[in-house]
Amino acid sequence: MKKLKKILIWLLSSVCAALIAYVVLKYIDSYNGLRNLSVHIQDLLLILANLPTPLWATIVLIAICFLYIYLNTQKPQYPQEPPNVQEKLHEAFGVYWNNQYKLRCLKCKWPLKCASKGHDPSLFWCSNCNTKLPLRDPNGNPLTEANAIEQLKKMLTNGST
Ligand SMILES: [Zn+2]
Repeated sequence: MKKLKKILIWLLSSVCAALIAYVVLKYIDSYNGLRNLSVHIQDLLLILANLPTPLWATIVLIAICFLYIYLNTQKPQYPQEPPNVQEKLHEAFGVYWNNQYKLRCLKCKWPLKCASKGHDPSLFWCSNCNTKLPLRDPNGNPLTEANAIEQLKKMLTNGST
């Protein structure tokens, strides 16, 4: 799809270049060279209107293709995993947890991803609402996902007994 877009951009730019060259040459030709350089918009429009139909058809076709691609690329990019609205969530350490100990966004409940691999394992990121959520224990200390799950399991087993 990206390759096609590049080809179309290239096509459109070459058509535009050809069109400008065509118009400029016609313009210069109709005034016997560069003697008269004052811009006669009416003449230019006349030349544009007299362009051969296939060229116009090509331009229109490419413009439609461009519009189609533009509209397609403007669609919001949804993450692969949609949120499960029925899922029971438990809030702890600054995020939501589901019953499989997976992290969910506190704002929109979408699955969280580790924000920076290798840097801060306590920082998580929601690709849906673009929020960064740090994992913190009740004292405000950073927690890794594994540590948080460990503490969560302890809390749950203590709570049930
Ligand atoms: Zn979110």
